[in-house]
Amino acid sequence: MQESLINLFFHYRMKVTIDPYAGFCFGVKKTIEIAEKELQQQEKLYCIGDIVHNQEEINRLKKSGLEITDFAALPKEKRANVLFRTHGEPPSSYKKVNNNGFTLIDGTCPIVLKLQLKIKDAFLEMEKIGGQVVIYGSKNHPEVVGLSGYANDKAIILESLDEIGQINFSKPIRLFAQTTKDKEIYNSIKEAITQKINDNNPTTDYKYFNTICSQISNRVPGLIDFCSKNEVIIFVSGKKSSNGKYLFNICKSINDKSYHISSIEEINPSWFKLIKTVGISGATSTPLWLMEEIANQIKTL
Ligand code: SF4
Repeated sequence: MQESLINLFFHYRMKVTIDPYAGFCFGVKKTIEIAEKELQQQEKLYCIGDIVHNQEEINRLKKSGLEITDFAALPKEKRANVLFRTHGEPPSSYKKVNNNGFTLIDGTCPIVLKLQLKIKDAFLEMEKIGGQVVIYGSKNHPEVVGLSGYANDKAIILESLDEIGQINFSKPIRLFAQTTKDKEIYNSIKEAITQKINDNNPTTDYKYFNTICSQISNRVPGLIDFCSKNEVIIFVSGKKSSNGKYLFNICKSINDKSYHISSIEEINPSWFKLIKTVGISGATSTPLWLMEEIANQIKTL
C-alpha cells in the first residue's frame, strides 16, 4: 500500500525543464559583463534607460551601484561614468556625453552598431538621390530611436504591414528591420513593397537588408519543439521586451497553456493541476538565474 502511494507520488511529480536555448543573447550578456566590470572599479555607473528589459536583473545590478537614469537627470559632476545599453543610442546622445565631459562606456551590441552604420550609409545615399530609408520596428523602442537618429530622424518607421502606404513607391527605397522583429512579418513587408513596385513603378531602385538578428530567428525552431514537448510553458520576460512579446506569441501558437510572467510572484498554482511536464523559457533579456528560481518555485508546488 505504502509502495503504491510512493509510486503515485513519483507518477505525478512534475518534471520542470529550462529551455536550453533561452537566456541572454550575446549582446545583452556582453553589456551586462561590461557593467559588472565597471561596477567592480567604480561606485556608480549611470545607464541611460533600462540596461535590459528585465526588472529583476535591473534590481540585482542596482545593488552593486548601477543607476538607471536619463540625460536630464545625469549628475553635474564631470567624468561621471555613463553607460549606453545594448539597444544603442542616436548620434545626438554621443554629443551630449562628450559636451558634458562624461566618461562614456559604450555597451551597444556590435550587431546594432553595424546596423546603425548601414543606416547612416543608406541615408547619405538616399539624400543624394531623393530616396527613402524605411525601418520596420516599434517607433518608441530605444533601438529604433537610435537607428532613426542615423537617418537624421527622417526614416519612415513601419510598425506593421498596414503602414506601407507611407512609402513613395516611385522613389528609391532602402528597407531595414529592428533586430528583434518578427521575421515572417518582415518578409511580408518586403514582398508587399516588391509587389507594389512591380505593379506600378517597375524601375524603382529598391533594396532590402536582412537585419533581424540570428540570435532571435535561430531560437524559433528550438522553441517550437520545446513548446510541443511540455504540457505547460512558463515564458519569463519583462513586459516591455520586444523579442519577449514575439517569442511568447510563438509559444502561445504552439501550446495554448503558455503563460507570460515577469517575476516569481506571478506564478499561479492552478496552472499546474495534474500537469506532468512544465517548460520554462524566456527572452534574450531574461537571466538564467531568474528562470532557475522560477523552476525551483514551481517544483515546490
Ligand atoms: S538580439 Fe542580437 S542584435 Fe539584439 S542585442 Fe541580442 S545579439 Fe544584439
